[in-house]
Amino acid sequence: MANYQDPERQRPSPSAQPGPGKGIFLWLLLLFLIGFLILRPLETERTETVNYSLFKSQLRDGNVSEVVLTGNVIEGRFGVPVEKVVAGETVQVQPFETNLPAMGDDELLPLLEEQGVELEVRPEPGMGWAMILLYMTPFLFLVLIGFFLLSQMRNRGQGMLSIGQSRARLYDKRKARVGFDDVAGTEGAKEELRHTVEFLKNPKHFKRLGGVIPKGVLLVGPPGTGKTLLARAVAGEADVPFFSTSGSDFVEMFVGIGASRVRKMFEEAKKSSPSIIFIDELDSVGRRRGAGIGGGHDEREQTLNQLLSEMDGFEANENVIVMAATNRPDVLDPALLRPGRFDRQVTVHHPTRKSRLLILRIHARKRRLKEDVDLDRVARATPGFSGADLENLLNEAALHATLANKDMIENEDIDIARDRIVLGRKREGVYLSPEDLKLLAYHEAGHAAVSILCPTSDPIEKITIVPRGQSMGVTQQLPEEERYLYRSDFILDHLAVMMGGRAAEELIFSTATSGASHDLHQATRLARKMVAEYGMSKALDQMHLGESDHQVFLGEDIGHKREFSEGTAELVDLEIRRLLREAYERAINLLREHRKELDRLAQRLLDEEEVTGAEARKIFGKEPTASRMAA
Ligand code: ADP
Ligand code: MG
Ligand code: ZN
Repeated sequence: MANYQDPERQRPSPSAQPGPGKGIFLWLLLLFLIGFLILRPLETERTETVNYSLFKSQLRDGNVSEVVLTGNVIEGRFGVPVEKVVAGETVQVQPFETNLPAMGDDELLPLLEEQGVELEVRPEPGMGWAMILLYMTPFLFLVLIGFFLLSQMRNRGQGMLSIGQSRARLYDKRKARVGFDDVAGTEGAKEELRHTVEFLKNPKHFKRLGGVIPKGVLLVGPPGTGKTLLARAVAGEADVPFFSTSGSDFVEMFVGIGASRVRKMFEEAKKSSPSIIFIDELDSVGRRRGAGIGGGHDEREQTLNQLLSEMDGFEANENVIVMAATNRPDVLDPALLRPGRFDRQVTVHHPTRKSRLLILRIHARKRRLKEDVDLDRVARATPGFSGADLENLLNEAALHATLANKDMIENEDIDIARDRIVLGRKREGVYLSPEDLKLLAYHEAGHAAVSILCPTSDPIEKITIVPRGQSMGVTQQLPEEERYLYRSDFILDHLAVMMGGRAAEELIFSTATSGASHDLHQATRLARKMVAEYGMSKALDQMHLGESDHQVFLGEDIGHKREFSEGTAELVDLEIRRLLREAYERAINLLREHRKELDRLAQRLLDEEEVTGAEARKIFGKEPTASRMAA
């Protein structure tokens, strides 16, 4: 039996399975052969099928010695061989076989009597023991398969199919070493992980002072913020084997496989301790038990239980550290977070502007950038980008530069790449009629105008009516700095800006377009948050009414209970409507007051398709500050 010990070798290919077939097929063949031989009369002469009329004429001639009737088949023997042409050859027929006519034959019995030929009538297909054997082969086959599968179950994990193999990948230490230097900006996380490295490097020293050894470290943070990278960096710094696997790898169709895979991986890691086990996307195995739709996912629970018991089963001298990453710590099973398991949590955040600069620098090292590329400017213009997004940005820029036949990445390439990522790719082949274009231009100009006229609103970066991605036009705002706290006047301004599009449609064309639907959705959500979560509505005071867009996760919290009365719910709705109406009125009034500027901005958009924030501000008589990306 094949035993795949090589950790590099991941999924044994199905064709490599030592097939269940061979042995069983031989057995089957043997059975069939025996049955066949026994059923077959042991005679050397061949029985030939003849016409009924030939049989009868021979019978009349007295040339038939014995006759056996089975069903409607007559078997017999000619006294003197009869010549018959079979496939162009003349053969001598002695034993013969023929079929009784469907309607029977009244003459046959008298004829037989007349000739003194004895008739033997046999019951239909004789159930001799050979027949029974033959009939039973399928059942025998099933039983054999059953035994085969049972034996497979017993030694699963090393079994023939090898589905239970740990799929953990062992990163080659020599290959592409990653260290903390390759991770930028996550200082807090790195600081915490340094202890882990220290321990892995020198466990004895650590224990001498009675240090508590961390068993499980859980990296928590949004996607693309470098969690996987950090885990690899720990392995690289500590210079120990790193068994990496993804939570979703564990969850397989076969019952019990995930659990055995966990066991296998821990075995391998212990063998090469000190070492690190890394489970990416822990939430896909470690989700709270008993919360799935349609009953818990049994397989996942078994896997999780195995994981828990493996982590509990560590001896003090087994220097294995389990690291895991997730972006959904909220859905993890509480048992995973208990002391002795993933009790140490390291949070990774979206990078701030400074960190973005550092990350950009790291990834710029591997690419050819022109000297005048200002990464600081890029960092300013990319709020909300994760590390992975930033890497992607430089990638796209490089791609663009290559396609443009440039030797180096220039500022322009980065700008274009950023627009592509933020706004989506330009859509080709979308044709708008001149009237629709005008509507679109006023809609976007409306957003922009309200934004420029509201004191706390984020500055406009760019306005465009070039269809991109999902939307037909975009008015893009960029915050001056990352915002963590939102003041109510800012939110109110923002609501007005979102209403600016619809307000412009109404003001200029006395109509409404479906294009505002997204704006209205966003505005309504925001208003609901103000009322129900931020306590910013006078009517409801400081009451927090539970998250409005609470994620329903695999049945958990399905049938989410409301924690307030019917009357309050109505009040909430009224308050939301009031906020939206006020925002809308504010927007339309602002536009009415600045109608001339609005017209100019819309016209400019129609002419140029894209207008920078600076240009727009100039139209409204504001100083053209704060545009960072576009010159
Ligand atoms: P996560 O596991 O948190 O989803 P990854 O670690 O897979 O994110 O990050 C994806 C890629 O993004 C990394 O391989 C790396 O190139 C880049 N990256 C993310 N964060 C950083 C960072 N802080 N410093 C440098 N590169 C980063
Ligand atoms: Mg990851
Ligand atoms: Zn809009």
